[in-house]
Amino acid sequence: MTPSPRPILSIDGAVKRFGKTVAVDGISLDIRENEFFALLGPSGCGKTTLLRMIAGFETPSAGRILLDGADISPLPPEKRPLNLMFQSYALFPHMSVRQNLGYGLEMEGLPKAEIARRVDAMLATTDLSALADRKPDQLSGGQKQRVALARALIKRPKVLLLDEPLGALDKKLREKMQLELKRLQHEVGTTFIIVTHDQEEALVMADRLAILKDGKVLQCGGPEEIYERPANRFVANFIGVMNFIEGSIEGGVFRAGGQAIEADTSGLATGRPATLAIRPENIAVHSAGNGFAGEVVDIAYHGLDRQLYVRTGLCDTPLQVRVPASNGAFAVGATVSLGFAPAHCRLFQD
Ligand code: ATP
Repeated sequence: MTPSPRPILSIDGAVKRFGKTVAVDGISLDIRENEFFALLGPSGCGKTTLLRMIAGFETPSAGRILLDGADISPLPPEKRPLNLMFQSYALFPHMSVRQNLGYGLEMEGLPKAEIARRVDAMLATTDLSALADRKPDQLSGGQKQRVALARALIKRPKVLLLDEPLGALDKKLREKMQLELKRLQHEVGTTFIIVTHDQEEALVMADRLAILKDGKVLQCGGPEEIYERPANRFVANFIGVMNFIEGSIEGGVFRAGGQAIEADTSGLATGRPATLAIRPENIAVHSAGNGFAGEVVDIAYHGLDRQLYVRTGLCDTPLQVRVPASNGAFAVGATVSLGFAPAHCRLFQD
């Protein structure tokens, strides 16, 4: 199901203070129906507090949370048509997978036949039918994670909140589950809001993401938009690998290390410092040419590609340049020529 532009959940000027700490500092966000939305940021930026406010476990110090246009701020967690899946999974150890899934529906007083039908359907959707009679301690980490997800989804919440849902899994399983979670979300069409501090995870899974810092949203947009056009230096640094070259705008031109680098300087103040940001994959490297001269000081082999570290006169730290692994033409100590396409250069003055 593709996300609709209609907002299902609106966070309107949400603030949360704990004594002198301002955990959430005036956040407004519209989350759309059927969308996979990620809250991403470093430790302590306020993402869990925001999620807990949406779920109803924290009362906002100011602001409102609207679901389908109705203010749910005064409602206790159990009265909100949304569900929070905890990192610890919180499965009932003495119940089978099937019983774990059915429990919430039994509490709602649904007829037995209806419960059995919905449990079977959810077991099939989450690929758990073969494990239906096992107890949680007979499951792997990834399987437990799927049961927790199935149990959260079976109650058909309008919005599912997930706090670091893949945090307990090892890297390989995590990558597999990222795609599985995305597939499942697409299939059931429920709006997912996920909290993560893992930028790669957010880029892989989310339709849109919000980058948080110090309780504020620094940028909200699609993965490509955020990767290609970070709004400020913090976002540029937080997402992926970025080279930064410190310089200044002189007569409308960016200069660093006594050299001019062509980039769009519109809107920037002349005579003031500026930082140019460019990704390793956007720097062209040749063994000779009329670009910026540099020396390869290190090479890291990553399987798919090689990361060259090139010392130039533009900045103190070597620039990171990515070339395909098949390109073995460069050796440590080689002199190279670097080219920056102006379209890939971003300038910040923040
Ligand atoms: P992490 O990734 O480490 O879980 P986070 O981005 O989820 O971090 P929060 O847990 O929302 O961050 O915390 C935001 C800020 O609020 C932190 O400075 C934290 O110490 C503070 N904080 C959170 N909960 C409480 C609380 N119950 N009492 C006091 N301070 C709190």
